[in-house]
Amino acid sequence: MKSSIATVSISGDLTEKLAAIAAAGFDGVEIFENDFLAFDGTPRDVGRIARDAGLEITCFQPFRDFEGLPEPQRSRAFDRAERKFDLMQELGAELMLVCSSVSPVALGGIDRAAGDFRALGERAAKRGLRVGYEALAWGRHVSDHRDAWEIVRRADYPSVGLILDSFHTLARKIDIGSIRAIPGDRIFIVQLADAPSVEMDLLYRSRHFRNMPGEGDLPVGEFMAAVAATGYDGYLSLEIFNDQFRGGSPTSIAADGKRSLLWLMDQVNRERPALRLGVPAMPPPVAALGVEFLEFATDPAGAANLGGLLSTLGFRLAGRHLSKDVVLYRQGDIKIVVNTDRDGFARTAFNVHGTSVYALGLKVDDAAATVARARALGAEPFEQAVGPGELAIPAVRGVGGGVVYFIDDRSGLSRVWDVEFSATEDEGTADAGLTRIDHVGQSMDYGEMLSWLLFYTSIFRTDKAPMVDVIDPSGIVRSQAIESPDGLLRLTLNGAENRRTLAGRFVAESFGSAVQHVAFATDDIFATAAALKAAGFEPLKMSPNYYDDVEARFGLDPDLADRLGRENILYDRDEHGEYFQLYAPAIGEGFIVEVVERRGGYRGYGAPNAPFRIAAQKRLLRPAGMPKV
Ligand code: MG
Ligand code: MG
Repeated sequence: MKSSIATVSISGDLTEKLAAIAAAGFDGVEIFENDFLAFDGTPRDVGRIARDAGLEITCFQPFRDFEGLPEPQRSRAFDRAERKFDLMQELGAELMLVCSSVSPVALGGIDRAAGDFRALGERAAKRGLRVGYEALAWGRHVSDHRDAWEIVRRADYPSVGLILDSFHTLARKIDIGSIRAIPGDRIFIVQLADAPSVEMDLLYRSRHFRNMPGEGDLPVGEFMAAVAATGYDGYLSLEIFNDQFRGGSPTSIAADGKRSLLWLMDQVNRERPALRLGVPAMPPPVAALGVEFLEFATDPAGAANLGGLLSTLGFRLAGRHLSKDVVLYRQGDIKIVVNTDRDGFARTAFNVHGTSVYALGLKVDDAAATVARARALGAEPFEQAVGPGELAIPAVRGVGGGVVYFIDDRSGLSRVWDVEFSATEDEGTADAGLTRIDHVGQSMDYGEMLSWLLFYTSIFRTDKAPMVDVIDPSGIVRSQAIESPDGLLRLTLNGAENRRTLAGRFVAESFGSAVQHVAFATDDIFATAAALKAAGFEPLKMSPNYYDDVEARFGLDPDLADRLGRENILYDRDEHGEYFQLYAPAIGEGFIVEVVERRGGYRGYGAPNAPFRIAAQKRLLRPAGMPKV
């Protein structure tokens, strides 16, 4: 598989783009004309920079509004093409992408277009160039790859071929099977893009909302399998127009692109081994079995505060690390690690972010295979010195720079709590019925959200829930849940569009994206509420107005509504079941702890309650801009 990406897909100037594309390991690059026009140098300079970086120029694009024109526009279009051929020869680009015309004066007719392409192909061939024809989903007369192929077929000239673009085919729901009948050697390049399943104008959706394969909802894998069935073995080229990417870092977006292509090819290869795609070997997608632990980096004062909170939540101090300033709190299957060690990565994380969850420990079946898959997909390994008697726990760096550890039974890693920690006697704390971690929420700038999504969905077997808008009184936070098929791992990714939302403020104040939210599960929210109260826990106080509305909205028994109100428990319901939530006031710069009970298979996360609890949490926070104490 040879990989390519269009310069339009990432941010920066042309030099930055080419450097980032080369660094991510792509073989080729499509030069998008506007990037060239904005570049302050000659076409030869661009060609040299690309080739010096090891990149082949796979395509020059786009050439618009060419076919089906009446005279005199037709002659002018050919003159225009000759000028671009001059430019391509200077660049060292051999293939021109011609997209189907949107010109109001263009005339229809397959044979007319085929004749135009034959004439253009003859001119291109004289210079050793080729032209490829792509059907835009909103083309005036040609908006379907089947029509574009028929035009190419009738043009019947070796230097005229077809360009396929997954977005145009999939967004219009054109039969993918029709691709299989096209001879692979008549396809000059294949462009890949995904997109979210939102109903909107196709042109607008294409120009602003395309994303990397795996980040959206289109069946790009099916498309790719059909392409592979033609025998096509040329470049797979990402062409992504996305507003988030325009503001992102060129290197990380380029790296995401490479990750998405590797993920896509691995997926197609697994489902259809008979296609014999040349794909780097990697372990299969990983079934995550849950959150094994969360680890806080903090200092002694922060550790005292955390310890106080955890004890009011019914956690007991269950162990001290044999050689480091690290303690373990447990309740049910939940393990919380508090790290105040002055050496190691936790200290670095604390120095940058303050008290924060710097590491997430996930339970998997095979930790080594998980790291091997993550690394094959471009994740950065994480290793630090292992002390005497300590286990080397496999880990990678997450998108925001935090650490993701993997724990399994098969290599004995799940014994780490007995091996590295001495048991402590903590008689004082009564269990509050918390059983496991229901979900972990990570907050980030909206622009980074797709990177996080791709990180998790490429490594793990996951289902994506539809993205929801969480209404913060100060703005929208986009929330995307990722779940393992059995619900053992649930992560919510929260993308903040501004710094005034609770999520945005947290990202700003903690200097980067991080775990902001942990939800502990209970099997009996009312028993847990009573136990917490006895332990001195102060729940987040909800407005009585909220309970009047909940009672009316869901038709709740007034006694239940009263009881919810007395305990400050929030309520939601979906077609599967009920959801109960009990929040603590936000901690520090907006760290959120909640206790939840799911009854009857409720699938959501209480998003309808978010505006009300966020408002209550924000009332209690230090006003933004005031000094920290
Ligand atoms: Mg395209
Ligand atoms: Mg939650």
